[in-house]
Amino acid sequence: MAHPDPHAALHARQPGAQTARLWRIWMPVGLIVTVAGVLWALLTAPMPPEPIAAALPPAPAAAAALPPVTIVQTENVAPCDSPEIAELLASGDDDAVVAAWGGGRAFRDAIVAGDADCISLNEPQRLWLVVNKRRSLEPQNYAPKPLAIPAAIREGDGDYLRADVTEALNQLSKAAQDAGHGEVVLGSGYRSHAVQVQNFQSHIDQFGIAEAEAQSARPGHSEHQTGLAADVLACESHCSGILDFGDTATGRWVADNGWRYGFIVRYDHGQQGITGYEPEPWHLRFVGKELARAYHEGGFTSLEKFFGLPDAPDYIDEW
Ligand SMILES: [Zn+2]
Repeated sequence: MAHPDPHAALHARQPGAQTARLWRIWMPVGLIVTVAGVLWALLTAPMPPEPIAAALPPAPAAAAALPPVTIVQTENVAPCDSPEIAELLASGDDDAVVAAWGGGRAFRDAIVAGDADCISLNEPQRLWLVVNKRRSLEPQNYAPKPLAIPAAIREGDGDYLRADVTEALNQLSKAAQDAGHGEVVLGSGYRSHAVQVQNFQSHIDQFGIAEAEAQSARPGHSEHQTGLAADVLACESHCSGILDFGDTATGRWVADNGWRYGFIVRYDHGQQGITGYEPEPWHLRFVGKELARAYHEGGFTSLEKFFGLPDAPDYIDEW
């Protein structure tokens, strides 16, 4: 068997002697031409183009104004063990707590799963507070601070809401008007424990205890005492009564869009067996934008179901 010459292929590619000589002569010339070409290119190169970002149109204001979202949840750190969550909880910025948790849905899921020991649905100052006929406010005489008067109010008592809720209601009212509807006007907001005592008694005097309890909350069981609840009316060509709010175009718009501003309709249709109240389209409860979005997107109709709590159709004790 003949051994192939391993250099045969190499030999075959060797340039002939003539080619090699020409190469030796022309290579220096080529170098000179190349160097001159590079120099010429450098001298005549245009200025570097403007950075691409500068040439693009400016970002829309809405996008630029979006708050930064901080995601602190990692595979290994439960939100309640996260220093950032602890800091936000201490600061009282509840909406930021929910955002840092990963959003309203993740927050809600953690509570329902029992994985949120650092969150209490009983703390009256929290946006996730749930007060109902089975859950009273602690302390009973709790009073929120600070309070503020919304831009649009109807004269009377209960003109105040918690300051952050006031700001949100102002935004909701402006958005309703921008959408071609009426002002969303505060008819009744913060009610102190003492006022709720009077309010509930007047319902009993007018309607009897059974009807009073379907329409009004016992003292210590009212969302109005937290400053987070607003009974609203609509001022279109004229102002609706509170009871008519749900039948106005403004009321329907608020039912569909209130969540964008952090509000939910707390006592929805067909939920009396869960919430203990007849439908109240006018009673808006502020839960913040993060929770309101999750509530809306999840199709929830009661805070009780949202947080996986027992139904609260009535009080445990007789009045
Ligand atoms: Zn109300």
